[in-house]
Amino acid sequence: MPFVLYDTMQRKKVEFQPAKPPHVGVYVCGPTVYSDAHLGHGRAAVVYDVLRRWLLHEGYKVRFVSNVTDVGHLTDDADDGEDKIQKRAVLERLEPMEVADKYFWRYFEDTDALNVAKPSITPRASGHIIEQIELTKELLQRGYAYEINGSVYFRAAKWPDYGKLSGRRLEDQQAGARVEVRGEKEDPRDWALWKKAEPEHIMRWPSPWGEGYPGWHIECSAMSLKYLGEGFDIHAGGIDLQFPHHECEIAQAEAAGHEFARYWMHHNHVLLNGEKMSKSTGNFITLRELLNQYEPMVVRFYLLQSHYRSVLDMTQSGLEAAAKAYYRLLESYRRLKALQPAGGKSETLQAAIAELQEDFYAAMNNDLGTPEAIAAIFKFLPSLNKALEQGEAGETLARAREVMERLGEGVLGIFPERVLASNVSGPLLRGLVELLLQLRQEARQRRDYQSADSIRERLTQLGVVVEDTPRGTQWRLPQASLAGGKE
Ligand SMILES: [Zn+2]
Repeated sequence: MPFVLYDTMQRKKVEFQPAKPPHVGVYVCGPTVYSDAHLGHGRAAVVYDVLRRWLLHEGYKVRFVSNVTDVGHLTDDADDGEDKIQKRAVLERLEPMEVADKYFWRYFEDTDALNVAKPSITPRASGHIIEQIELTKELLQRGYAYEINGSVYFRAAKWPDYGKLSGRRLEDQQAGARVEVRGEKEDPRDWALWKKAEPEHIMRWPSPWGEGYPGWHIECSAMSLKYLGEGFDIHAGGIDLQFPHHECEIAQAEAAGHEFARYWMHHNHVLLNGEKMSKSTGNFITLRELLNQYEPMVVRFYLLQSHYRSVLDMTQSGLEAAAKAYYRLLESYRRLKALQPAGGKSETLQAAIAELQEDFYAAMNNDLGTPEAIAAIFKFLPSLNKALEQGEAGETLARAREVMERLGEGVLGIFPERVLASNVSGPLLRGLVELLLQLRQEARQRRDYQSADSIRERLTQLGVVVEDTPRGTQWRLPQASLAGGKE
């Protein structure tokens, strides 16, 4: 069965054929590490983790590259053109690179909790300044770029193909989007490949044009080509990156004579309670806060219940419904895993397994149809539960286990070892930790700091992370246990 993907460039579903089978190269635009990841980052991580797992399931060898932006880029035009990382560094009284490192590791803690496999390569923009300078030099030589006052700009008007991915034209691009508007550009639509560092700019590197830092778009062209080579297979990212970021990536790579990505995938926005997330209105939650409230696998399961190309509206009721469904599925799966196979075959169960596989594969091959793939598992559940209840048909149940391990643990990644290893239910465990923290709080109130510290110390020894924040005490469970969802 061919794997069909929606290719943004061709604006239709097409059969995926890698350039050099069995190898597949995937590049995903990663986060800028200046604050904690939010839901959109979580969705991206989970969606492309499932893409990777599906390709592996189909027998491909996947090199999965996802970058981290850690050079000081300017905030978008709405934010006065300050450097995001530098702004944060002042706020947190840290070196800019300390900010980048702090949020780099916190990002991976969050995605680890979501059972997202680490990329094969995580290139950091700051580690690839030379490659970005080389690509900029190539564009200068070919006349697609020009230098002025220590900055280098891409000459937009010279690249007629601009807009072929998004269908938008350069005329639509707001002058200075993502880069500070400067009178020095030949054309307001030109974008920076290299920026001269103003005296107050901290993150800076030497270049043939003086001290400065790379423009945002150039890192992805340079790093994807470096690690995946000419004409690599899949380039992915959020729908908001289509324009101008991905258009610029394509222009920079192709104008320098390279063959760029062959397929383009874009995942859609995440809303919170029907509205766009925004820190200023308070309609905002970090991934970390969400993972403290719900078992991370409930969040993963919830994310996969929506198709990646549709808008996902995250609500509490939606999460709670997902938690119920997930724990129901987990219960059956635990029983299946604990089964000592005995007895013979069941033709009914055999037929249900065949149907599960057929529906699941058809769903995944149809542009990663995870909602339908999950539906196929729930359709299978009654037959499975009945066979588990009867306790016969051990041979067929063993087969069911093998298939469910492959699809649930393998492809969807919703049954990690730490969840299966725990036999304490999520809500009970959460309740116990909450109780201990309440006792600690009471001890502090009566100035019994010895008891308070001792409770915290014992929890820490058990791997429970306790953080006292201005908004109260936050905590999270160790990886090896089951963090609870609300049922
Ligand atoms: Zn990118």
